[in-house]
Amino acid sequence: MTSKTMLVFCEKLPLMAELLGKARQQADILGWSVAALLPASMTANPGEMGADVVYGCDVDLRNPDAIVNAITAAVKQAEAQVILLGATNLGLEVSPRVAERIGCAYSPWTADFEIDTSSLALTAHCMLYAGMGVATYQFKPGPVILTAAQGVFGAVSLPGKTASDLKLDLPAVTSAVEVLDYKVKQASAVRLEDARMVVDVGQGFKTHEDLKMAEDLAGLLNGQLACSRPIASDRDWFPEWLGLSGLKIKPELCLVAGVSGAIQHIIGIRDSRVITTVNNDENAAIFAQADYGVVADLYEFLPALIERIKARGIRLA
Ligand SMILES: Cc1cc2nc3c(=O)[nH]c(=O)nc-3n(C[C@H](O)[C@H](O)[C@H](O)COP(=O)(O)OP(=O)(O)OC[C@H]3O[C@@H](n4cnc5c(N)ncnc54)[C@H](O)[C@@H]3O)c2cc1C
Repeated sequence: MTSKTMLVFCEKLPLMAELLGKARQQADILGWSVAALLPASMTANPGEMGADVVYGCDVDLRNPDAIVNAITAAVKQAEAQVILLGATNLGLEVSPRVAERIGCAYSPWTADFEIDTSSLALTAHCMLYAGMGVATYQFKPGPVILTAAQGVFGAVSLPGKTASDLKLDLPAVTSAVEVLDYKVKQASAVRLEDARMVVDVGQGFKTHEDLKMAEDLAGLLNGQLACSRPIASDRDWFPEWLGLSGLKIKPELCLVAGVSGAIQHIIGIRDSRVITTVNNDENAAIFAQADYGVVADLYEFLPALIERIKARGIRLA
């Protein structure tokens, strides 16, 4: 192994592959090596995703204290200079804690980064103000932790490449957390990511009961219901949301109702083939993203649309 290493960890495999892809690309420029931290419960071949070294460990992914312990140990063992972690709920929780333990810099929501080949200074471009701006930071050489969301970097595929397995020397973890129960999220019959039609609801819906309109519409068009983040995270009406920090969908038709069109949300729906929207604010940002838009009160428009679909017997082909 060369003296300098980038370490990658993410508990979600697609994002881990993307982080490893970016690490591989930078490491090839610099002549560094790429290490992956891989808990025993995850089945993957990090070599083919770009890793030179894999630190295997037996760690409970449900316990953030254990993850902090494992990442810290891996950073020390690998003498990692750059630590790339997923901007997942878990990643965002543990990253600043690892930075504090190691005493290194931490930069969340990275949109891109590069390392100067002579000075080894790292320049990171990070999303600010809910994605409305990008800040550029320059870090002196030394450990720095970056987090990035899914869809920011591209994965690489290196069939046949193997990574050396190293055992992580894991110190005993003293945890204030005791995992009492673990519930797997109930999956719907069709994954949202595979749905052909999605009705995407936002804070324009005033009460939970009002969602019945959106459910009826989705039912008529064999679609699925999805939502913006506040509907899931603040109002708790759904277990998950669409967007930068949520799911990304690519249906044939995405019907967006009562959503303002914040960039973080658009990232989740922009791959839809056709986007239609209804919003009562003609200046709402969503209109710039939609193929078809109606300026109207959704409480008037959706019932009328449902009646029209019923009357005409419209179905999605
Ligand atoms: C780091 C970060 C990550 C984020 N990640 C995500 C993410 O992944 N996904 C996400 O969705 N958000 C995310 N957000 C939040 C995002 O910035 C927005 O705050 C959020 O998307 C707004 O949700 P909304 O459009 O439902 O609500 P609002 O912005 O409140 O918009 C409601 C819309 O409904 C319209 N409306 C109101 N009443 C009616 C009516 N009767 N008829 C028709 N229209 C009506 C209004 O005109 C308005 O445009 C993130 C924010 C940050 C800081």
